[in-house]
Amino acid sequence: MRLILLGAPGSGKGTVATALHQQYGVVHISTGDIFRANIKANTPLGLEAKSFIEKGELVPDSVTISMLEDRLADPDCAESFMLDGFPRTIAQAEELDRFLDKNSKKIDAVISLCVSDAIIVKRISERRICVACGAGFSLTFRPSLVEGVCDECGGEIIQREDDKPETVLNRLKTYYEKTQPLVDYYEKRGLVLPVDNEGGLGPAMEDIRAGLSERGIL
Ligand code: AMP
Repeated sequence: MRLILLGAPGSGKGTVATALHQQYGVVHISTGDIFRANIKANTPLGLEAKSFIEKGELVPDSVTISMLEDRLADPDCAESFMLDGFPRTIAQAEELDRFLDKNSKKIDAVISLCVSDAIIVKRISERRICVACGAGFSLTFRPSLVEGVCDECGGEIIQREDDKPETVLNRLKTYYEKTQPLVDYYEKRGLVLPVDNEGGLGPAMEDIRAGLSERGIL
């Protein structure tokens, strides 16, 4: 299956993607994770992306689209993948369409995660990440067993620079201006599966399972 996860920053795309990967084995592609790995490794791509990410702005399409297309060309994406954080603009969505057409592939469903702004701001302020392995934590919902130490690899847990309050508002503004119009873009093709993600991962995953089976995707 080929899926897109749409939703504001903090709407739970990464958590849902991890669960979908564990339950159905779908390859998880997060453009944010790819950028963070490149920043950590000091690659030219990381250096180019860093200043945009730190300001809560989108990395330019010219950089992001080719990076994503390179990843989609990897053999593990031949049959199934889910995109987390891509597309984020109409131009990216159009380019993705062209790329998939050229490869005789199509998106099966777009999971649109719905969460109110108040909950988003609270979740982001409590979100923490392991610098070493990228595992996600939450001060309320998934605190690490030892404060500041990753349960998975023992790495250091920090707050992402772009999760700090001064950047979050800019990221939300960018989301509403540039990314939310994609819900309409995919709605017109009947691809959108809206999922309420305020009630916890269990109910959201059940809605996703039901929605995907109704459409014959699972
Ligand atoms: P995320 O981990 O998805 O919240 O992404 C973190 C940051 O990476 C975003 O705020 C953007 O600066 C950048 N980013 C991730 N995906 C994209 C994309 N598809 N287009 C442009 N910038 C992106």
